[in-house]
Amino acid sequence: MTRYIFITGGVVSSLGKGLLSASLGALLQARGYSVRLRKLDPYLNVDPGTMSPYQHGEVYVTDDGAETDLDLGHYERFTGVASRQSDNITSGRIYQQIISKERRGDYLGGTVQVIPHVTDAIKEFALADQDNIDFMLCEIGGTAGDIEAAPFMEAIRQLSIDLGRGRSIFVHLTLVPYLAAAGELKTKPTQHSVRDLRSIGIQPDILVCRSEHPIPDSERRKMSLYCNVSETAVIPALDAPSIYSVPVNYHKEGLDVEVLKAFGLAHSQVPDLHRWEDIMDRVENPEGEVTIAVVGKYTGLRDAYKSLNEALIHGGIANKVKVNIEWIESELFEQEDAITKLENVNAILVPGGFGKRGTEGKIAAVKFARERGVPYFGICLGMQMATIEAARNLAGHTEASSTEFEEHDNPVVGLITEWVSADGSIETRTEETELGGTMRLGAYTAHLKEGSKTAEIYGNTVISERHRHRYEVNVGYVEKLEKAGVLFSGMSPDGALPEIIELPDHPWFIGVQFHPELKSKPLDPHPLFASFVKAAVAQSRLV
Ligand code: GLN
Repeated sequence: MTRYIFITGGVVSSLGKGLLSASLGALLQARGYSVRLRKLDPYLNVDPGTMSPYQHGEVYVTDDGAETDLDLGHYERFTGVASRQSDNITSGRIYQQIISKERRGDYLGGTVQVIPHVTDAIKEFALADQDNIDFMLCEIGGTAGDIEAAPFMEAIRQLSIDLGRGRSIFVHLTLVPYLAAAGELKTKPTQHSVRDLRSIGIQPDILVCRSEHPIPDSERRKMSLYCNVSETAVIPALDAPSIYSVPVNYHKEGLDVEVLKAFGLAHSQVPDLHRWEDIMDRVENPEGEVTIAVVGKYTGLRDAYKSLNEALIHGGIANKVKVNIEWIESELFEQEDAITKLENVNAILVPGGFGKRGTEGKIAAVKFARERGVPYFGICLGMQMATIEAARNLAGHTEASSTEFEEHDNPVVGLITEWVSADGSIETRTEETELGGTMRLGAYTAHLKEGSKTAEIYGNTVISERHRHRYEVNVGYVEKLEKAGVLFSGMSPDGALPEIIELPDHPWFIGVQFHPELKSKPLDPHPLFASFVKAAVAQSRLV
């Protein structure tokens, strides 16, 4: 029997609902329960695939090729459970389904309405693919009281009735602000937010209260009284030094015990959190530090590279060092002399990206890393840039470029319109294919060259990694580039698509067409990130 935990937010956004959900998932796992996490997003985009990283942070890609909300990344990092297409739904997708059904005449002339049609579709999504797990955690995007979120709130209210007593609970995350002038914490916004929920028939079982100051018992009692929640179920959530301390902190505040109590489940056992405690120790007591430059395009907004940021931290955890990330706008390196800024870093990473702006700056950063022997990690666009740099400066192909940036008769990086997928079928795409539908998305297998650095790092010659890109390195250049010293150490199983390049004569120079950061976890750092940070540590000892 799968039990449901609905997680809502109140007062303001950005309180860390995703982190709360992910941490609660990890705590339940530490007690031996199986979990799955889901995100219900009220916005009208069908998925976040076409949204600007500035608007919505990174797009998190799943194995099955769904472009999803970045909160799914938190879920996976904290629980290790791989997210699927069926774990993220938006109002846009729900309306799209309903409207196409309506056009087909599936509603037999009936009036199509928010209740029951939209709410039924939301319920169906929440109930799908339960796989007999113990707990399904459903996070509702947005904030209680949002117009857009109303159908979702109504749907989870109905679900709690449909599921029956003891099968679901509501956890509500709010803000308890501190008024410096009054020297007091204020509970009124929380009271209002819970009143909003209760007016639509949702009574939270647990209140999680974000606060910058410890919450005195008197204020806890007040919230308990006014919000109709037992006092022990008012859980304080103070700011944490690292997101990886959050599960242990929530446990100390009694969150997991309250959840089990609300379901009437036994809770006397202590969860096994030693792995999380070990991570906290590694993050809080590093034995050294390294500085890594990330030369990208959306460096102004940290969420745009969320998984990358986390994967570098995981690499630090693996090596017991603190990783300082210097985010640098690649356009900077299009100015003369600016490249000297890279002289003080221990490693350079060029992440994924789209469009021409700043690409010459990225190529300049690659050249610097290659010539100076500084560890270089190129991810997706970062691999494409490394290949173009090598084509220009090692193979003498001075015009080397990508058709993403300009028309080219013989591009080093170009649009591949046809390839054989893992099951042997032919996949095709054209330049005209709808935006959002033209990418190689999700998990693909790559075969690694025995004896290569990459095979050594993975400890394997067959790997599967997640992709999200339109263009590919042109296989027609492999021979020429290999002669110039570039090793194509990973290829698609049919040999048509280069997946990994490396420079055997360099301390650490690897470019990958996929996004390894999406699969890195604090409890299980990705081997490429662990190895890259290790190379940065070695470099730091040289200077
Ligand atoms: N813009 C490149 C492409 O579409 C790289 C994409 C990426 O880095 N994710 O192929």
